[in-house]
Order: sequence, then structure tokens, then C-alpha cells
Amino acid sequence: MRWSKAYLPTYKESPSDAEIPSHKLMMRAGLIRKLTAGVYSFLPLGWRVLHKIEHIVREEMDRIGCQEIMMPILHPSELYEESGRLKHFGPELFTLKDRRGRFFALGPTHEEVVTDIARAEIKSYRQLPQTLYQILVKFRDEIRPRFGVMRAREFIMKDAYSFHESHESLAETYTNMAEAYRRTLDRCGLENVMVEADAGKIGGDVNHEFVVFAEHGESEILICSCGYVANSERAESLGKPLASKEKVQKKPEQVSTPKMKTVEQVSNFLDVSPAHLVKTMLYKSGDSMVAVLIPGERTLNESKLSKVLDDPYVEPLRDDDIKKLTGAEAGYAGPVGLPGDTRIIVDPTLDEYDGMIVGANATDAHLRGVKMGRDFEATERADVIAAEEGDRCKRCSDQILQLRRGVEMGHIFKLDTKYSKAMSATFLDNEGKERHFIMGCYGFGVSRAVAAAIEADYDDKGIRWPKTITPFHAIVLPVKMSDADTMMAAESIYAELREAGWDVLLDDRDTRAGVKFKDADLIGIPLRITLGERSLKEGKVEIYHRRDDRTELIDREGVLDYVREFYSA
Ligand code: ATP
Ligand code: MG
Repeated sequence: MRWSKAYLPTYKESPSDAEIPSHKLMMRAGLIRKLTAGVYSFLPLGWRVLHKIEHIVREEMDRIGCQEIMMPILHPSELYEESGRLKHFGPELFTLKDRRGRFFALGPTHEEVVTDIARAEIKSYRQLPQTLYQILVKFRDEIRPRFGVMRAREFIMKDAYSFHESHESLAETYTNMAEAYRRTLDRCGLENVMVEADAGKIGGDVNHEFVVFAEHGESEILICSCGYVANSERAESLGKPLASKEKVQKKPEQVSTPKMKTVEQVSNFLDVSPAHLVKTMLYKSGDSMVAVLIPGERTLNESKLSKVLDDPYVEPLRDDDIKKLTGAEAGYAGPVGLPGDTRIIVDPTLDEYDGMIVGANATDAHLRGVKMGRDFEATERADVIAAEEGDRCKRCSDQILQLRRGVEMGHIFKLDTKYSKAMSATFLDNEGKERHFIMGCYGFGVSRAVAAAIEADYDDKGIRWPKTITPFHAIVLPVKMSDADTMMAAESIYAELREAGWDVLLDDRDTRAGVKFKDADLIGIPLRITLGERSLKEGKVEIYHRRDDRTELIDREGVLDYVREFYSA
């Protein structure tokens, strides 16, 4: 491609709404353009990268026997009523009406549609297993679209779905899929890790994410040197050791804590470490009231609580309901003296406590020296705290968890029969019995991968593409456009490389060399072939390696071999 004729706009400045490096660089290097919040066009440079990623994804899916299909974007909303996900997606689902007033959704993911296909087509265990995939645009009305194509409202996903007669068969596909994801990311040149994750809106019990390490990633990964890795939304830990403890008293002592509702206020007022306090958080699950107890300085992980209660719709109690249940204003709830049918869930980190300071269920008062088992009974113990960096690892109970940030690139799930049951999708097994499909689903963020690759490696000058997904293999940069020999050499190297099948960009723009060098750095092509008047006279050209910022002078004749060798290594 000749830059002088190409649609490759570059800018010095990035737009003010671009917060992270990949977003800034994608705008500045002319990879994408914003249409409206969370909706982007891919310009030629961005599209080339996207294409290369798609190609790798396709090869790896095909290699493990997945078959490519294409499902519609427009989904009748009844499908979501059937699966029960209408409520779950809530406002994240883009909906619209046709001329007859029928509701549709723009597909956020395709579990419902693919299950609808399978229930009509797959009748016998003999047709199983099957794995279907597609690479298609998805729509989600994200609360906070941001970071460019990283968290968009319209984005490209590869989604695969598998159907099985047994859990063994699902496990086999799941393992193959995990390996395919690992290979895909490795081939894209992205350092990645597979982590235990939270199932979110998709559902099912077993699921893993593939995360690419990047400083500005939205995902937080907790890692232990024993080998444990988990997304912080899911991670388990033993908390931090207690520095000091509240003494148990003969009986709970009520202390006045006027207008003090927060852990910080109460611990300051009583002059104790926040670790002496236990937070009592009140929730409603179906018709039952739930009190959740966690250490004062910790936060509750609502997703874990949801799982413990087996209820995706648990809700915190509103202030008036808190008053009804405890008799006190919000901020003074505690486990002592709650109505007998309240479920009291206690986080296991509280086992280390002797006494506790808790709300007194009376406005402006707390109780000191409370003992669990004497003053109140826990209905159940369950891990519900959000794990944090510096916590003790639960797996080895020895090492400390470290935090690393990253970008979630893929998420794979064992769905089991969640969708097939909800949507009555069945087949006949080898005994002629009707059974629900056992399913898996596997998402990969194709458009997000473009941003993740930049986020994973850039410098203050611009992008540094990995070899496998770079939009061009080489950029040919003639320094002095007015020099006939330079231009002849540029044209001949350009032609030679192109004929050999390499993607080459010839910067034949009639601008200052300084601008061209800056732009070449910005768009991040791994090899820059610089043609200078003086070195050409000696039959030499300069090769600049963008990633390791290194220059080499080589013979003009050796360019093709050099490029070939670089890309085969
Ligand atoms: P997240 O936690 O980032 O919102 P998710 O759990 O909603 O992701 P899935 O439903 O599992 O994601 O989607 C599969 C993949 O699609 C994700 O791993 C991610 O790479 C990509 N993806 C999801 N949401 C977006 C988005 N808003 N913009 C771009 N890519 C996305
Ligand atoms: Mg999401």
C-alpha cells in the first residue's frame, strides 16, 4: 500500500475522552473512529489487524473440529423469556420493535439462538458432540462504555457453543477449547493466563477466563506462587491475619455510638482497630431475610453471596425494610436478637475472632465483646468476602496473594443443562430416553484483542505490534523524496517484497522525513526499512526494529531474505 493514496490518518494529539494508552494510540494511529459512545468504525489499519486476529482464531477453532456458522443478530425477545435471561440482562440488552409491535433484541451473545437451532436439528446421541462457532458483531448496552473498543457497545466476538450427551464429552471439548485459546493468544503474541472466574450473566458452575497481562486492564488477577490464579471477582482467600482482637465479655456490652454508622467512625470513636468490628449486611433473597457477617475492613462479594444463596437476584434491604427487621435505623444492624427465621451467613475469616463489635439493632448503639455461638448462632459459614492483594492464599494457606492487572480476552463456560432445560432442548440417548443437552459456551473478544495487543506493549512513541498481527510486515521509508536513486530503490524494494507476498507500506508521502519517522513509530510496524541517500550509495539500507529499538545496516540485496528470516523466527 502506498501511504500517499491510503486512508491512514494520523494525529499528534489524542481525543480528550481517551483514558488509556491503547485507546489514545488507536485514535492517533487512525485504527478506529468513534461514531457515538461505545460504537466505532475500523479504518484500514485497524481492520487489517482485526482480520489477522480473526484468521488466527478461525484456524485454531477449525483445528479442534469446530464448525463455523453465522447466526442472526436480530433475536425475537421470546427466546430470552424462555431462557429466563430477559431479567438477567436487563438494560444491557438492546431492544427494538418491528412494525407489528413485536419485540426484538440485538444479540448480546447467542446461547438462546444456538440452542433453538440444536433442539430442532439434533435428535439423537449419534449426532453428538457438535461444536459450532461464529465471528460476529455483538450488542450490549454497557453501563460505562469506555476505553475505545475495549469496552464497546457494539463489538466483535468469536462465540462457540458445544452440545454433548455426557459430562465426559463436555470436559474433553472444554479442555481442547482451553488449549485453543491458549494457542490463539500465544500466536497473537500476547502473554496470557487462564484463571478461575465468575460466571456473570452466562451461568453454569465451571468457567475460566483468559487474561492478557496489561497495566491498564480492567481485570484484577490474584496470583499465588503455589500456582493458584483467579479473577478477583472469584478468588478465595483466608484474609489477613488479625493484628489485635476484641476480648469476649461476660455478656455483650451496649455502647453508645451516636450518629456513627461506618466502620471507620465506630473504630475511631472506640479507639480500636477496624478488625474488631464485624459488619452485618442485610439482604433479601426470595422471601427470606439474610444477614451476612464479614470483618469490618473487608468488602462483601455479592456474586459469591448470590452463589451461596443460589439466587441471582439477591438484593440489599432498603432502609425501611432494615428498620422493620432490626427496629433500628440503617447502620446499626447486628446478629444479636434478629428474628429467628433470619439466615445468618458468616464468613470463615470470622473464625479467628474471639470477641466482636457489632451493631446493636438499636439506633446509635453497638455491642462490644460479643461471642459467636453464645450470643448468636450462625446458620451457615460461607466464603463471601472479596479477596484482596496481601491475603493469605486459601489453596496453600502459606503464601500471600499478589495482584496483577490484565484484559479479559476470553471466557469459557461449562453450562451443563442450564439452557437446554430452560428451553426444553432434548435428544434421545442410546437407551431411547429423552435427555437434555449438556452444553458449553466459549467467547473470545476479537475487537478487544486489537486494543489488548497495544495495551500489552507500547512505548511513548506509539504502538509496537507483535509480528503475527501487525497490519504491515514492513514499512519502506525513503528519506529524501527528491533523490531519484532513493525513489528507485524504494520502488524496487516495495515491489520485490510485495511480489514475495509480504504486506508492505511504502511511505511515499511528500513530507518531511521527521514526520515520517514519527508516524512510522506511531503505527508500530515491526520492521522499518529506511533508505538514505548516503548509505544507498554504498549499497546499504537501514533496518529499524520497532520492538527492541535497534538499527542494523544491511546490503540492499539482502532485504527480502532479512524480512523472511525475521518473520520465520
Ligand atoms: P466483561 O466482564 O469484560 O464485561 P463478559 O464477562 O461480559 O466480559 P463474555 O460475555 O464472557 O464477557 O464475552 C466474551 C468475551 O467478549 C469477553 O471475554 C471479552 O473479550 C469480549 N467482550 C465482552 N464484552 C465486551 C465489550 N463490551 N466490548 C468488547 N469486548 C467485549
Ligand atoms: Mg460484560
